[in-house]
Amino acid sequence: MGEPGIIRKLNEEVINRIAAGEIVQRPSNALKELIENSLDAKATNIIITVKAGGLKYLQIQDNGTGIRSEDLEIVCERFTTSKLREYEDLKEIATYGFRGEALSSISHIAHLTILTKTAASKCAYKASYENGKLKAPMKPCAGNNGTQITVEDLFYNVIARKKSLRSPTEEYTHIMEVVGGYAIHNSHVGFTLKKFGENTDLKTPINSSVIENVRIIHGNAIARELMDIELHDSSLKLTLRGCITNVNYSHKKGTMLLFINHRLVDSLSIRKAVDSIYSTYLPKNAHAFVYLSLELDPRNVDVNVHPTKHEVQFLYEEQIIEKIKSCIESKLLSCNSTRVMYTQA
Ligand code: ADP
Ligand code: MG
Repeated sequence: MGEPGIIRKLNEEVINRIAAGEIVQRPSNALKELIENSLDAKATNIIITVKAGGLKYLQIQDNGTGIRSEDLEIVCERFTTSKLREYEDLKEIATYGFRGEALSSISHIAHLTILTKTAASKCAYKASYENGKLKAPMKPCAGNNGTQITVEDLFYNVIARKKSLRSPTEEYTHIMEVVGGYAIHNSHVGFTLKKFGENTDLKTPINSSVIENVRIIHGNAIARELMDIELHDSSLKLTLRGCITNVNYSHKKGTMLLFINHRLVDSLSIRKAVDSIYSTYLPKNAHAFVYLSLELDPRNVDVNVHPTKHEVQFLYEEQIIEKIKSCIESKLLSCNSTRVMYTQA
């Protein structure tokens, strides 16, 4: 029999790196957190630049509030946030971020640089971070109002993760999905996505509309068949807005963009419900384009889910899904009957 292993506590840096690697599993996870920070900071224009699918370089520039220079010292430490003071606040949280973990996590697994300027400050400040801490004193410099965050060499110290993310092209696809989704949902905000040194891949104007942005991102074949849907239910404290393609459109893959309380999420049960409604109207194995924005009582949604837990949980799921189904069904029925009437006329 062998000797028992000696149990030792891992050092803090390693613990934090492991935790960070769980929160950020691929470049698009990091980008989603950074976009949400820019939106929280009331940005109206967000420019994203990417090298090698975000694995080498991921930069996001916004024109939001900026970060106060006196906060730059601690901004990348774990659990530092300007958005939450008491646990009780979690119940009513209206901003995306609340954990104060995104910047910290990124700084443990990448080279992170912040360049930021508030409107009240005479100059911008630049600071680089490693393992949650400033690498060197921050430096005053020139810069516009807002914040530019640069993430370089993501996973440089997480070898296993780096090896498992082999394809920059695939990572870029995920980045496109995240940027496209947020651009449609936040149509008043301008989004630009480009590869470093190349032409722009995606650009939506400031103060655009949902349909216009769907046209820009997904093409006119989808945009011209879109119908708005809307539903309020006071007993379930539910508001549903969105747009869905009518029965003239179908595609073998389909698209489902789901936002719950303005966070891009996934819900297998909502996905299935929507598919089951469309299956009566569309050819076999064909799918629709569906964008849904659900607003639920924050007390009924588990916002405290892990950032990579894309799959969201909420109370009264069955009743809410029934409402969504009947809303979509009646919309499809009404457009279908108009079509029949046209062909008969
Ligand atoms: P959280 O968003 O949960 O508060 P983060 O680690 O994502 O945690 O961000 C920490 C803090 O840094 C935020 O609370 C906010 O004050 C500030 N911050 C981060 N990104 C930006 C940004 N783009 N513009 C202004 N402030 C920002
Ligand atoms: Mg955040």
